[in-house]
Amino acid sequence: MTLHLVQSFNRIGEENAFAVLARATELQRQGKDIINLGIGQPDFRTPEHIVEAAIKALRDGHHGYTPATGILPLREAVAADLHKRFNVTVDPDLVMIMPGGKVTMFMAILMFGEPGVEIMYPDPGFPIYRSMIEFTGATPVPVPIREANGFAFSADETLALITPKTRLLIVNSPANPTGGVTPKAEIDKLIAGLAKFPDVAIMSDEIYAQMTYDGLAHQTLLAYPEIRDRLILLDGWSKTYAMTGWRMGYSVWPKMLYDAARKLAVNSFSCVNASAQYAGLAALTGPQDEVHKMVAEFDARRKIVVEGLNALPNVSCAVPKGAFYAFPNISKTGWKAKKLASALLEETGVATIGGPDFGVYGEGYIRLSYANSAENIRHALKRMEEFLTTVNPQQ
Ligand code: PLP
Repeated sequence: MTLHLVQSFNRIGEENAFAVLARATELQRQGKDIINLGIGQPDFRTPEHIVEAAIKALRDGHHGYTPATGILPLREAVAADLHKRFNVTVDPDLVMIMPGGKVTMFMAILMFGEPGVEIMYPDPGFPIYRSMIEFTGATPVPVPIREANGFAFSADETLALITPKTRLLIVNSPANPTGGVTPKAEIDKLIAGLAKFPDVAIMSDEIYAQMTYDGLAHQTLLAYPEIRDRLILLDGWSKTYAMTGWRMGYSVWPKMLYDAARKLAVNSFSCVNASAQYAGLAALTGPQDEVHKMVAEFDARRKIVVEGLNALPNVSCAVPKGAFYAFPNISKTGWKAKKLASALLEETGVATIGGPDFGVYGEGYIRLSYANSAENIRHALKRMEEFLTTVNPQQ
């Protein structure tokens, strides 16, 4: 028997964070003491009032299909929340509720990717961008995200990579895996430069928008009216409200693309789980203190992680300004990044992710998620120190 799976599946990738999680879980099952700094999800529980809202929704009989784009009160709440946070006006009829943040990038890349065109994406960056671009047959064009530039986008470098074949530019700030935040002045410059390329759509992945530190304000791309007719905003509940397993995300689409997104929903997931949508509504309209508490806790751990990493032999770590990742430079240790990540897991039980899992420009770095307790982080750093001072590097 031969099953003729279409060629594009030879090009689809995945997220190595899930493979690391599987390996860490396996080692744990064997009785090893594992500290997981690999996976990118908050280690907090979903706030209780959000959980209660989902239970109530089911009890109230919200168990059927909803509109494919999501229930109106939730789309209105998303628009109100964006207005409250950024003072921007968003039409609830351009908001779409998605089963997780990821699905927005899936749809956006499907809308623009085909052989012969180019899609630009950050490297190092969330691995699904490149995977999906390759799946569509489009040419992936990495935008280098450099430590020397504070892991921010460089407007000049980004604009210089645009060609007549460019259809979509993906930006992400605060960023995974670097924790980099692109300053407002650089975004201003990028948006001004994009005026020369009116046929390029922009997808802004702002899933870590509420996680910025040192008093830095998040700069949303929604604040630029001149690109609103070609901007896709990606956000969601996963990180902000510790809701990764609920699969709740949203996007704001330009009018021209909204119906295409709706049709993709109708052709795939029909609608997002009804009770989860009511949970999402409670999250946006209820008290925000748990969000602030969680961010304050991440901030405290960020300091521990950065200080600890900089004390390791031949390791240097730039201060991440957002998200919950540190991306230390390990190039002077003599280790190749993926070898080091793998050896740290197998030999010390500390799970991290090798930088190259986020793109070629990730070589020389590993990613540590500080979505783990301060105590565990301290233990992990101690184990890493012992390892790096006693084990010979492997290339
Ligand atoms: N975008 C970025 C930059 C991410 O890091 C993630 C998750 O790790 C997502 C999107 C996807 O989020 P979700 O779990 O809501 O699909």
